[in-house]
Amino acid sequence: MSDFSALLESVVTSEGQEIFNPATGESLGCCPVGTPADVDAAVARARAAAPGLAQLSHEERSELLMRAADAIEAKAEALAELLSREQGKPLNGPNARFEVGACAGWLRATASFDSPDYVAVDADVTATVTYKPLGVVGAIGPWNWPMMITIWQIAPAVRMGNTVVVKPSEYTPLSVLALVKTINEVLPQDVVQVVTGGGDVGAALSTHAGIDKLMFTGSTATGKKIVSASAEGLTPLTLELGGNDAGIVLDDADPAAIAGDLFWGAFINTGQTCAAMKRLYVPASLYDAVCDALLAVAEASPMGVGLDENNVLGPLQNKAQFDIVDGLVKEAVASGARVLTGANPDYEAPGYFYPTTLIADIDPENPLVTEEQFGPALPIIKYTDLDWAIEQANSLDVGLGSSVWSSDRDRALGVASRLEAGTTWINSHGAVDPRVPFGGIKSSGYGVEFGTEGLKGLAYPHIING
Ligand code: NDP
Repeated sequence: MSDFSALLESVVTSEGQEIFNPATGESLGCCPVGTPADVDAAVARARAAAPGLAQLSHEERSELLMRAADAIEAKAEALAELLSREQGKPLNGPNARFEVGACAGWLRATASFDSPDYVAVDADVTATVTYKPLGVVGAIGPWNWPMMITIWQIAPAVRMGNTVVVKPSEYTPLSVLALVKTINEVLPQDVVQVVTGGGDVGAALSTHAGIDKLMFTGSTATGKKIVSASAEGLTPLTLELGGNDAGIVLDDADPAAIAGDLFWGAFINTGQTCAAMKRLYVPASLYDAVCDALLAVAEASPMGVGLDENNVLGPLQNKAQFDIVDGLVKEAVASGARVLTGANPDYEAPGYFYPTTLIADIDPENPLVTEEQFGPALPIIKYTDLDWAIEQANSLDVGLGSSVWSSDRDRALGVASRLEAGTTWINSHGAVDPRVPFGGIKSSGYGVEFGTEGLKGLAYPHIING
């Protein structure tokens, strides 16, 4: 039996919710459909395990994270194959192998951060600030980067001494079950548990009295429900929600030089990425050159079944997302926007493949611009006035990422400082780093992940003053 088959067999069940490969329709097997009672039981076990983890030192918990990274690396190819078959993303390119590698990398980086503890001292005061574990963390995640986002939630929680109950998306539960099973070969019992199931399981977790902190990554709509639910127990939240990131090309940029990074800034994970570039503003003087350069990259980036090593773009993960992208593109085309490539999916073909789509000459108020497409369809908006482009970039009620593209760093910095978003990249888009805080503003959420700032979100500062 291959490593992949053994891994799959260790997480599937004979009954429950059947999981399909979104590229082929192939059944992978079933996964358990959890209930609120399963959440109760997992939280009780997590509470029982919490004191044991809390009493370990930072060094000991960092060692656990390093061993978890080793365990992932030992099964990397099998994990990547399962992720590819369940999520749809290709093995190759910045996709499944990249995601599994990022899981190990994030664990190692999180293990290496300095403790956030410090002493504030001057002539009149000595305040010792110790960041203590909160207890049990609930971690609810989406289907686009299911393994990596779970690690983003687990790693800082465990590093700070909390146990974790994970509720994965019902679209990608096997990837998360396999990931957690792998790290649980080295973690103490009940430090990280998974309860699979639907939104009712997520709701049970987010409202549970035994949860001391909730990490949520998903849509703004679900995020708002979680905020309402958190009022009862005053549960602290970190919310990473949707975005509609703008990229602004300045008129001194070199289209050929930026085209590759522009393309992958928008199309990484076939556009199903929270901090992907979802609308691109290009000056009239460079408009045709940027469109042509993007088209050339699109034509050289094959889309198809994930296990084929040629492919670097995959299907939409589910039918609902396919329909959202299809609807937005149809509306854009009906409004008179120009299709540079793509649109017109083959509805009869297997899999939720939506062609790589570039849309030019589009009205800035078109829904493909103002709503989050979360798929492989980029609107390219022409501008003649940079102030207008900046105003447009800031005009929506979301603010996760943004980017400025220019050959002049000082000029790019000037524009970047005027953009309203958690992160503004220069000459790249969406490149997150475990050492650098990441989070959104407005309806993109609150709280930050990563780095020492992220660790503080999984602990409370206990101050001894005197
Ligand atoms: P959803 O909000 O639909 O689902 C996210 C998770 O919440 C799933 O596990 C879901 O379970 C669960 N859930 C559903 N209802 C409830 C509830 N009432 N209470 C608690 N949990 C619940 O998001 P998607 O999975 O569709 O992910 C796509 C969205 O996530 C996009 O809008 C994207 O922008 C955003 N996103 C944001 C990121 C960020 O870092 N800012 C990163 C990735 C995605 P189930 O699947 O079983 O319904």
